[in-house]
Order: sequence, then C-alpha cells, then structure tokens
Amino acid sequence: MNIAVVGTGYVGLVTGVALAHIGHRVTCVDVDQEKVDCLRQGISPIYEPGIEPLMKENMEAGRLFFTTDGASAFREADVIYVAVGTPENEDGSANLTYLRQAVKDIASAVTKDVIVVTKSTVPIGTNHEMKRMFAELAPHVRIEVVSNPEFLREGSAIHDTFHGDRIVIGADDEQAAAVVADIHRPFGIPIFQTDIRSAEMIKYASNAFLAAKISFINEIANICEKVGADVEQVAAGMGMDARIGSSFLRAGIGYGGSCFPKDTKALAKIAANIDHHFELLKAVIEVNNKQQRKLIEKAKERFGRLAGKRVALLGLSFKPNTDDMREAASLVVARELLAEQAIVVAYDPIAMGKAAHVLPKEVIYADRVEQALERADAAMILTEWDEFRQLDLSVYVNKMKTPIIFDGRNCYALDDVACYPIEYYSIGRKSITNIK
Ligand code: NAD
Repeated sequence: MNIAVVGTGYVGLVTGVALAHIGHRVTCVDVDQEKVDCLRQGISPIYEPGIEPLMKENMEAGRLFFTTDGASAFREADVIYVAVGTPENEDGSANLTYLRQAVKDIASAVTKDVIVVTKSTVPIGTNHEMKRMFAELAPHVRIEVVSNPEFLREGSAIHDTFHGDRIVIGADDEQAAAVVADIHRPFGIPIFQTDIRSAEMIKYASNAFLAAKISFINEIANICEKVGADVEQVAAGMGMDARIGSSFLRAGIGYGGSCFPKDTKALAKIAANIDHHFELLKAVIEVNNKQQRKLIEKAKERFGRLAGKRVALLGLSFKPNTDDMREAASLVVARELLAEQAIVVAYDPIAMGKAAHVLPKEVIYADRVEQALERADAAMILTEWDEFRQLDLSVYVNKMKTPIIFDGRNCYALDDVACYPIEYYSIGRKSITNIK
C-alpha cells in the first residue's frame, strides 16, 4: 500500500514508522522544513524510546520517506493519514485550523480516488465536515474519510503501536473500513469497527475517563493525608478489584501533556455546545488544576515564605521518557515559585532543550541532578524519571543545604527515606521529618 502521513509530530512520525515497518511504502509530509531535514538525516525531532533505529531501518529498506512536498505524496497515495495537531482554542474547543488546511492541501493535489484516515483527535462531526469539504473541493475524485483515533502514550509510543489494546475504525463506507482494517491487520491488535461519530467519541470518552481516574485518586490522596491513610496502600487494595483495575491509580501532582488537558476541555465544550453541562468532567479538570499546585502549597506551609529559597526542580517534561513540555506541571510550578521570588534551579535528563523555550527565563539550568541539588533549600520532584527513582538518597543529604524534598510523584518508599536525615513530603502519604 502506498501511504502518505500528514504531520510528523508524536503521532504522525510513530504512525509512519510503524506502517513502514509492517511493509507499506510510507511518505511522511510536514510543513516544517527544519523537522523534515532532521528526519531525512535519520534524526528524530522528538525524544521517543526506540524511534530512531526503527526509522533508520525502514529508511534504509526504501519504505520510509520524508518530504515537505505534500502535493506529490498525496497524488501517489492510496491512503492518506492525517495526524496534524488539534490544539486548544482559548475557549477550550479544539482548534481545527491545521486539520482544515491539511484537507485543502489533499483536495488540491489528488487526482485519483483515495481514503483519508483521521488520526488527529477531533470533535464529533469533524470527519463528516472533512467529507463535505472534500466533496466540494475535489468533486472529480471519490474521497472516503475514516476515523482512526490514536491511543499511543508518549514515552512508550512504539510499544503501544505494536501492542495496543484495540484499533478503532469508524467508517460509513464498508469498503474503506475494510482497506484500513487490512492495513492494520499485521499489528495483530483487535480491531473495533464502528460508525464515525462513535469512533470520534471513543477517543474523547477514553481520555476523559482516564483523566477522571487520575483526579479521583488524587482527591483520595488528599483525604488520605488528613486522615492518616496511605494512598499507595489504598490504590493497591482498590486496584486488585478487576472492576476498577490498577492502572491510572498513581497519586501525584496531576496529569499534563498534549492530550488529557486539551481533550477534557474540548469534551466539556462539545457537551456545552449541545446544552449538556458535564459537571463530572469539569470537576476532573478543576481537581487537576489544583493538584498541579500541591507542592507549592506544601512548601509554603513548611517555609512560610519562599522568597530567596533555592529550589531544585527535578523533572520538567510532563512525564518520563518524553521531552514533551506541553501542559507539564513544571510550567505551573516554576512560574509560581518565581512569583514567590524563589530561586529555581532545574534539571531534566532529556527535556532541558525544549524546556528552555517555554519556562520563564529566570530559571537556571543544571547539567546534572547533583548540580541542581547543590546548596538547595528544597527539592521538588515533578517527573518520575528512573534517574530520580534510582538516585541514592544520600545525594540529597550531601548536596542540599537542607535536605527537604517535596515529591510530587511518590518516587521513594517511605521506609527508605526514613533511614536518612531527610524531611520528605509526598502525595497522600505521611510526611517524614528526620532532620536533626
Ligand atoms: P504535534 O504538534 O507533535 O505534530 C503535528 C505536526 O503536524 C507538526 O509537525 C506540524 O508541523 C504538522 N502540520 C501541521 N499542519 C500541517 C499541514 N497542513 N501539512 C503537513 N504537516 C502539518 O502533534 P501530535 O502530538 O503528534 O498530535 C497530533 C494529533 O494526534 C492531535 O490531534 C492529538 O490530539 C492527537 N494525539 C496525540 C497523542 C500524543 O500523545 N501526542 C496521542 C493520541 C492522539
């Protein structure tokens, strides 16, 4: 199959590489010349474990190409995947500017019948709008639109693409659905076929549900702290119930990233547009906004004023194994610390380059975790990178002015921390105050 992928971000690149790997001829198209130049040299513009070797292997095998020349790629393609961004508008709705542009680009280029597969997360009704646009802009050809929402997680995107739980295909046209199902069959993942609107909703409902699970356990954690229960124990006990399941029950300082924040807001907006006030989802969002500030609250409670305090921020990306800074807790925490006139020294194993573009310019960057901790009054752990989980706790004791840790991801076992002269505040667990 000759496939074009529009947009080579986290989703488009992984999709393109994976489809090439199962034997298709894939041309990835992006409007960003710098990105394409980088990709052509076999360099991934995003940090995603395992992506580069797979990219290179498929480029060398003559199955994977990168270009800014969308017109040629679309003209030759049998199937075109759309994976452009659908960021958030100011009112929370999804911004479809890139998607509509991609539709126009495709419509003006194609000269034969083609199937367009939408991977981007789009509001219910968008695939039908795309179909109407194609009918108007390219009446000379038949363009079928199929919804194929993406469920990969950044940081394990390659693994998820080859070992996902399901592939959702939403289509009005049986033949188009069958072609897309055939393309994906080599992945060996169960295929769930449905109508277009339901497929679009499956994506939003899944993300909203997972976000709700996170906000739920975070609220339980906040209560645990006050009643003397331990949220890790509670989550373990809850998770053993198959009806609940153990995943997404890790208490912390909330969700971030390119999907949950924008998709929950977009779904609330979709509901509001039809006069349905999705109170549960609004509460999920509100709880998360508060939770991202939890460590600041704890630090203020501990220190009173934060002015002049040197705070080491450990972990800047929104989660480990990615360099994605979109809606990362570090953005909120760094801003608030600086507003309190604290000195912020930041370290992340991978995301520092991207972080420097989006964090306030007052943030100081350290080359190593030890350097970030040097003479610090407090450390705040925002991302549970293995490097921090595996860090010997004596490093905090030896490097910091006062070894006071605010752990937003519960990286350490309380029994381990208790062996050191450390003050330790985590989420939903008892505090340890061992400093003499
Ligand atoms: P991204 O911002 O990383 O990448 C989008 C890419 O599209 C950019 O490289 C941009 O230059 C390119 N682009 C924009 N307009 C274009 C055009 N007309 N022609 C060619 N290229 C164009 O986005 P992403 O994180 O990969 O997300 C893409 C979509 O997938 C979004 O709708 C998102 O909600 C959804 N999604 C993302 C994830 C994730 O983990 N990132 C997971 C599931 C679904």
